[in-house]
Amino acid sequence: DDEDCNASVSCQGSGLGLWSNKKWGDTGSYAAMKKNQSWFQSSDGDWELARVLNSSGTESLISYSEGKVLKVSSASLLPANPEILDGVDDLMQLSYLNEPSVLYNLQYRYDRDMIYSKAGPVLVAINPFKKIPLYGNDYIDAYESKSKDSPHVYAIADTAIREMMRDEVNQSIVISGESGAGKTETAKIAMQYLAALGGGSGIEYEILKTNPILEAFGNAKTSRNNNSSRFGKLIEIHFSETGKISGAQIQTFLLEKSRVVQCSEGERSYHSFYQLCAGAPPSLREKLNLKGVHEYKYLQQSTCHSINGVNDAEQFHIVVEALDAVHVSKENQENAFAMLAAVLWLGNVTFSVIDNENHVEPVIDEALLNVSKLIGCEAHALKLALSTRKMKAGNDNIVQKLTLAQAIDTRDALAKSIYSCLFDWLVEQINKSLSVGKHQTGRSISILDIYGFESFDVNSFEQFCINYANERLQQHFNRHLFKLEQEEYIQDGIDWAKVEFDDNEDCLNLFEKKPLGLLTLLDEESTFPNGTDLTFAEKLKQHITSNSSFKGERGKAFTVHHYAGEVTYDTSGFLEKNRDLLHLDSIKLLSSCTCELPQAFASNMLSLSEKPVHGPLHKSGGPDSQKLSVVTKFKGQLFQLMQRLESTTPHFIRCIKPNNSQSPGIYHQGLVLQQLKCCGVLEVVRISRSGFPTRMSHQKFARRYGFLLLKHAALQDPLSVSVAILHQCDILPEMYQIGYTKLFFRTGQIGKLEDTRKRTL
Ligand code: ADP
Ligand code: MG
Repeated sequence: DDEDCNASVSCQGSGLGLWSNKKWGDTGSYAAMKKNQSWFQSSDGDWELARVLNSSGTESLISYSEGKVLKVSSASLLPANPEILDGVDDLMQLSYLNEPSVLYNLQYRYDRDMIYSKAGPVLVAINPFKKIPLYGNDYIDAYESKSKDSPHVYAIADTAIREMMRDEVNQSIVISGESGAGKTETAKIAMQYLAALGGGSGIEYEILKTNPILEAFGNAKTSRNNNSSRFGKLIEIHFSETGKISGAQIQTFLLEKSRVVQCSEGERSYHSFYQLCAGAPPSLREKLNLKGVHEYKYLQQSTCHSINGVNDAEQFHIVVEALDAVHVSKENQENAFAMLAAVLWLGNVTFSVIDNENHVEPVIDEALLNVSKLIGCEAHALKLALSTRKMKAGNDNIVQKLTLAQAIDTRDALAKSIYSCLFDWLVEQINKSLSVGKHQTGRSISILDIYGFESFDVNSFEQFCINYANERLQQHFNRHLFKLEQEEYIQDGIDWAKVEFDDNEDCLNLFEKKPLGLLTLLDEESTFPNGTDLTFAEKLKQHITSNSSFKGERGKAFTVHHYAGEVTYDTSGFLEKNRDLLHLDSIKLLSSCTCELPQAFASNMLSLSEKPVHGPLHKSGGPDSQKLSVVTKFKGQLFQLMQRLESTTPHFIRCIKPNNSQSPGIYHQGLVLQQLKCCGVLEVVRISRSGFPTRMSHQKFARRYGFLLLKHAALQDPLSVSVAILHQCDILPEMYQIGYTKLFFRTGQIGKLEDTRKRTL
């Protein structure tokens, strides 16, 4: 359906001999030969350029790739764009907007290190996986002075600053894309630009220094990205009346806690652990009883302990410097490192069975003693907290001994809590340092770096949350995009007939509906003492009967039809992860500690559990469930985020990962296409197709095609020349609109004019 009805798949020329080419990799030589060509999908799924030799209605004879000849169904061919459109800045300028044309155009640019392109209002950034010379002060100056205007993050940041200053409206830069696509780097590049233009007070330096801190504590090596952010981030940068940075605030979302206690082969836990082990000076090592990385069980689960090209010891010093910059005192830095060490030592705590019911007690060894010393509690208290649980039975307090499995869960839950509390605490310290009291609204730029849509072979609770967040963001994206599109037509005086688009209301409803939506049902099941992942899946199938975005699957699975595709979720672990329990005994242990941080963590946890943000608390599950579920908390955060974004003028950046091996120069069509679909770029393109996507100023149009006029009318004004050309070339009235400054064309019209032009030249 992407085919343009005006595509002329003709068979001009016989240039078989000339036609020697590989795929798109070699872009230099054959662009010149691209003439009357079509796209055809080869057996490996990649699109290749082909020349149609002969067409007899339903079948066509084509030649492709070094003279191979093939008979294909004509319907399977898609028109290619004329050469003058090769590598256009903005995909909207393409005459044919079919998938291969979009892919080709992006690759054409990528091969020339032009990693940025526009898709209408959206900036598309393709990860180069190498240093490219597009950044730094010269470039910043060039974009500021407008001597450069090619698509760039700097251009987006510049527009944001200008619009903020001009309209006094808050701006946002929303960056999305899958893991490893370049979101975090892009966010940093945007921050660089804002810091350069809004610098002066010194606070810009602090803002830039938040990156190494958050990356140390919130990023890890995964199979997809050596520096993968395991949390979402919104940084709101405030400006003064004169456009100088006055402060900033950071909000983080959903840190992946499980990584602290378990880690797959080839991946690592959080950078902070390795940095501490490698970089701590001798005095600190001694204080924290630090050992090498290979001595810690949590880190031993993967044999990967280092990252190519990264020096953890050096990084440690960079992080310390950054902590200094955001005014975390030396004492607090040491406290924070002690928490890291405590987590590592917790992982080494082992248990021995003490009776024939498999009840256990922790072994009193170096690990247990180190933990108690590092958090500041009695070894005995720690031992009790890790091996028993106090319960209320009627009016009596009873003490239940834990089994091995329960004790290990308790230990790991404590480690995860300490780590995530530490992360939140660090964010709090940063915010204190960056805050300048009351901010005037209307002068801020927020940068959102959030995980993109995910669909794996097995999808779990994490993907469930992430994809839910992406549905919300997509809704925001759609709404905004249509508004913009509409505005441009209105501005240029064009008839605007409403364009239909798929909204994702249905899917959002599936998640958020009460009482029978996914989130509510999950929360409900999480509070039932007898609830299991299986009963949860069964409830879904039983209760969600009328939402077309939902499909029950066999056993513990269900499928959601997301805007970016169908995802089947395996509910294993959903309830556990949603409850995210830390037993009251553990919280009490932390609050009884003599060290400052564990106390602060405990009081934070207790206060959180007492004041629900949204909706009532579930009371049915005893004292341990006096806490917001993970999805409820996340939903609350998302609503806040959306509210915040709604009050801003958004700028969208979609990051694309061109290959899965993090290598430069490799562009996998299939992978790129799938992401273009997922992040809605093709949708943007589709939307624009239903309008008048190709735009050209009267002047440019008259210059390029004026010579086609029989009676040379060069002396006339560009508009009159343009109208004369349109008439003469039989461009149908419904195929274009004449705006005040530009001509607007439906898809395919420029291709037609180019053909005429070439025949005439
Ligand atoms: P994401 O945040 O989307 O998971 P990152 O921003 O961490 O991805 O990028 C992954 C890696 O890709 C980076 O560590 C870097 O090596 C490379 N990269 C991303 N963007 C660029 C860029 N603009 N220039 C050079 N390398 C980049
Ligand atoms: Mg990232």
